Amino acid sequence: MIAAYLLIGADCGARFFNDAPPGVLCNGCRVCLQDDYVPRNLAIMKKYDISCTYDNRTIVSRRAVHAFNEYGISDIAFIPVTNREEYYFLKPSRQLVIDEFASGVKHGEQCQSCGLRVGSIFDSLVLRDALFPITDGIFRSDCMFGHNEGKTFAVLVGTHTRSAIIKEGLTGATLFPVMAQQSKPAFRHNA
Ligand SMILES: [Zn+2]
Repeated sequence: MIAAYLLIGADCGARFFNDAPPGVLCNGCRVCLQDDYVPRNLAIMKKYDISCTYDNRTIVSRRAVHAFNEYGISDIAFIPVTNREEYYFLKPSRQLVIDEFASGVKHGEQCQSCGLRVGSIFDSLVLRDALFPITDGIFRSDCMFGHNEGKTFAVLVGTHTRSAIIKEGLTGATLFPVMAQQSKPAFRHNA
């Protein structure tokens, strides 16, 4: 069963942490230590409605924010990252739980400096405890993926929200199916 979709934006040619002050990234592994850090004026080179920085942060256009609002998608912060408020960092607050085993998640070594894992990868995302497809909304994964400053949550969208992105013609989005673990029957009747 397809339970949701993984949203990956096109490369916008910007580095989210280019102007980050000391302390935002770990000196050892460069994993982000300040979850609330947002750049003031990101130098976006390629303009899409849904895009991604080199360091894996999802950026959306004002048009995309309007579209998501029209569809009543809530529980997301859209934080301006350009002076003229044309682009926003997409930060969902609701989490979906990843089945790490079924997803083939592998964690990198632990950083000597901050104690966090330097990076984590997955083969193909699988949700845990999703008995039905997630229909509406934009979510974050409960665990972090990527390496160094690129390590962050995955952005997941519901099946209806995926359709809305396509229908509205929002540019830059690639959507990959995310499966759910087949639930086992609670009781087994022997013949
Ligand atoms: Zn570190």
